[in-house]
Amino acid sequence: MADEKVLIIEDNPMNLELATDLLEVAGYRVVNATDGERGVALAHTERPDIILMDIDLPGISGLEATKRLKGNPEFKDTPIVALTAFAMKADMDKILAAGCEGCLTKPIDTRRFAHQVADFIHPDGDTP
Ligand code: MN
Repeated sequence: MADEKVLIIEDNPMNLELATDLLEVAGYRVVNATDGERGVALAHTERPDIILMDIDLPGISGLEATKRLKGNPEFKDTPIVALTAFAMKADMDKILAAGCEGCLTKPIDTRRFAHQVADFIHPDGDTP
């Protein structure tokens, strides 16, 4: 896992700081954006191994940002994971339809977060 890069797109400063800290402690490199359009642009320049996507963002939503990224073949294999507090089935359907691989619910589970992210990067369980 060391040295893998995570792009976090999240406009809530506390969530962003917490997620960043948890992932950096686990050995990840973290880059971030606080709105969808900058996040999409940063994905192109940073080439992250995974993108954590808040859904409720200023400007374009996380769903729209996900659609833009997944509409580009270069991001076909990049996992995009929604960060959301509302994960009712209808919300989950929209999240998956937009192209996300899954979602992590807020509040962030501080003890499991880095492992949850690792599982999305390596869905076959090939992490130590
Ligand atoms: Mn938000």
